Amino acid sequence: MHPLDLLIRQARLPDGSRAQVAVKAGKIHQIASPEVELGDAHTVLDLQGDLLCPGLVDGHIHLDKTFWGAPWQPHILGNSVKQRVEIEKQLLKTLTVPVEQRAAHLLEQAIANGTTLMRTHVDIHPEVGLRNLEGIVQVRDRYRDYIDIQIVAFPQSGLISCPGTLALLDQALTEGADVIGGLDPAGMDQDIAGHLDAVFSLAEKHGVDIDIHLHDPAQLGIFELEQIIQRTEALGMLGHVVVSHAYCLGMVSADLARTTAEHLARAGIAIMTTAPGHLAFPPVTLLRELGIPVFSGSDDVRNAWCPFSKADMLERAALIAYRSDFRTDAELSTAFAIVTADGAKVIQGATPSFSIGAVADFIVVAADSIPAAVATQPLKKYVIKNGQVTVRKGELSRPMSLVQQV
Ligand SMILES: [Zn+2]
Repeated sequence: MHPLDLLIRQARLPDGSRAQVAVKAGKIHQIASPEVELGDAHTVLDLQGDLLCPGLVDGHIHLDKTFWGAPWQPHILGNSVKQRVEIEKQLLKTLTVPVEQRAAHLLEQAIANGTTLMRTHVDIHPEVGLRNLEGIVQVRDRYRDYIDIQIVAFPQSGLISCPGTLALLDQALTEGADVIGGLDPAGMDQDIAGHLDAVFSLAEKHGVDIDIHLHDPAQLGIFELEQIIQRTEALGMLGHVVVSHAYCLGMVSADLARTTAEHLARAGIAIMTTAPGHLAFPPVTLLRELGIPVFSGSDDVRNAWCPFSKADMLERAALIAYRSDFRTDAELSTAFAIVTADGAKVIQGATPSFSIGAVADFIVVAADSIPAAVATQPLKKYVIKNGQVTVRKGELSRPMSLVQQV
């Protein structure tokens, strides 16, 4: 019997210092300088000066939508969210690979790339019922030693305009979904009050957080944000509401963006951005200066909406930095915080710390510093989840293929 589960020797910490880290029962047991004798461990990793950083957080992904694990699907163009939703439905119907296997393929990619905590949206509408949710709940259970997954019940086909969806969302929140989603109250449902009242009342009924996709542009999107702010404050949901995308914040004047952001900050609403290449996106620096949690996610990975992405949140941090014209070490460190601490704070309600008793979720990369890791996006030499080494040299360490089991 070893006194320690894991001993990480010769680690370079984000502050540049060298240290060794002892892990017991999934938690940091001791942090010491390299020369201290910490005792025997079941697993010993000598990092030889490689960087030990927190596990990555993918705060917005769609595991159920991916084509990963199925043959390549040529992208079909669509001009609106509604059109794309219909194209997606038709494409997914043609796939013979079940949702569990597709999701598992994508999940393994995300895990190998260092993600240890994830929020996935799952489509809920009458044509699929709760089938996608059941599949993702099964996958979540299968991979529980590798990653923590929070599930959002997501009305991709609309809520008011798609009869039967509301009852399914209600049911989903009793059958594995943790968060209630929403989507373009104006653009999808043409009923801002009806859509938001339904989402907020489900959140109140089940005591869950809210995460609303908002693609609606410019002034329309700003109006909807103000409606979301009003309801968040009225129900005292400070710290429990997210708006994903919120492109509108990047489409209006700097003055209006600031005023709206001040209201968002007052209501404790967080913003998720993927820093998309083809669209305006929220001003990350302004939002963070106002104290708004800004986090990120892979969103669409090889699916009907987007053929790209490797579900690598270090790559996403680099994209956020690139699109925001971040160049200094402080700015690159901000991009890293967006894909680690800030995401964890939104999803779990607390910022993980590097201290005795904290959960031992780490990645190890060959880099001098966090800014260097963001700029160069090196291979994850190790991924450590709850003190267990789950990935070595970019490959999952496992006794058999979990993809085949689901
Ligand atoms: Zn999304």
